[in-house]
Amino acid sequence: MAADAPARLRIAPSPTGDPHVGTAYMSLFDLAVARRTRGQFILRIEDTDQARSTPEAEETIFQALRWLGLGWDEGPDVGGPYGPYRQSERLPLYRECAEQLVEQGHAYYCTCTPERLAALRQQQIAAKQPPGYDRRCRDLGLRPRPDEPHVIRMKMPLEGESIFTDLVRGELRRPFKDSDDQVIVKSDGFPTYHLAVVVDDHHMAISHVVRGEEWISSTPKHLQLYRCFGWEPPRFAHMPLLRNPDRSKVSKRKNPTSLLWYQRQGYLPEAMLNFLALLGWSMPDGREIFSFDDVVSNFTFDRVVTSGPVFALDKLQSINGQYIRGMDPEQLLERLFRRDYVRAQLPLVQERMRTLNEFHTATAFFYADELSYDRSLLIPKKAAPDDVPQWLKAVRQRIEEFRPWRAVPLEEQLRELVAEQSWNTGQVFMAVRVALTGSTQSPPLTETMEVLGREKTLQRLDRALQLLAEEAS
Ligand code: GLU
Repeated sequence: MAADAPARLRIAPSPTGDPHVGTAYMSLFDLAVARRTRGQFILRIEDTDQARSTPEAEETIFQALRWLGLGWDEGPDVGGPYGPYRQSERLPLYRECAEQLVEQGHAYYCTCTPERLAALRQQQIAAKQPPGYDRRCRDLGLRPRPDEPHVIRMKMPLEGESIFTDLVRGELRRPFKDSDDQVIVKSDGFPTYHLAVVVDDHHMAISHVVRGEEWISSTPKHLQLYRCFGWEPPRFAHMPLLRNPDRSKVSKRKNPTSLLWYQRQGYLPEAMLNFLALLGWSMPDGREIFSFDDVVSNFTFDRVVTSGPVFALDKLQSINGQYIRGMDPEQLLERLFRRDYVRAQLPLVQERMRTLNEFHTATAFFYADELSYDRSLLIPKKAAPDDVPQWLKAVRQRIEEFRPWRAVPLEEQLRELVAEQSWNTGQVFMAVRVALTGSTQSPPLTETMEVLGREKTLQRLDRALQLLAEEAS
């Protein structure tokens, strides 16, 4: 592959929720191929799901990729000749492309109502048919007025099969009849992923699409779109999905999936990259400990595994341990200090410190894997013990998905909740404080939450609820 032309690869995360380990896993292979061929690695933000995308999530994607050293050559913050690199800034292009497909007879307007589609689905399920659109509008040549609700669908061939060569899996064949007439422009005028990804990969001159195997079934649609537009498609590599130990798709229910969690837990970025690379690929000499530069020098798609690798935390821990043992003490000292985390804690405790040592006692709770405290502390003075679990549950629910994860808005949420329920603010805050810090005395509560981070905050609330439940039984 070294002799290949410079490749252009992209990672295209959606800015929703926390930055996912899967994003790093794909990016690492993207960047390895880009470096190996002296090409480019591009970051494109797929933010057409307006309801779920947030600027905060975009920022944490930047942060997580930078932490891992997976820097991009073109992207929303650095620009580049093929931008803009946020899909929400490219809407006219998608619209124009979709209309071109309609003009040329490759796509059509569909005015079927959601009610009709739901009824159709019910009938199909009852008749044990695979659910899908029945193509009612396909040959009607509809021209809805702009104010009339409609979508645009692509016309999939009714016969034949899609054949393509996947760089990891070899030749793949899929009958066209398995693919629906996919919606490419939604009723809100936004493109769906399928249209946007094809238009962008073409306009950004992407040569290799490396993505999760969950997209294999969409590839025939994408290739069909390339054909209709008359564009040369990129090459595709569908990487094996990361799995939980029970073989289900890796999910935050069973494993932490946020890259920020691993950063905060003290994993080393180079160990994380090694672990992720090893999940999807192997070195020709079978070594398990290798650097990102080793991946760059040795990467070929034929060494990508095809069976679902298990994201096993103990394996990551063992790799991380090997890196730690391999460091010289001076390097380790620098890493141990975890400057960013300490810097974030400083404003919470500086005012109360009389000696340097007090910093460590005052912040020890940030580092504990599991806090140890007496359960009775969770029940504030004059509070009814039975009330505490419902406070903690309600607080957990209120903040679980809340964004932005910042002290002031979090405080507003908690105060609102307490007011709605006519609870006692002091008591509720005290119970939460003990759950999060193991003590009745701590730095300001929601500032502590901000620094502690979402995962640890939720974990500690769960742990307190568990303690209270044990006591009750
Ligand atoms: N936004 C898609 C995702 O996050 C991109 C998939 C692709 O790489 O085509 O999974």
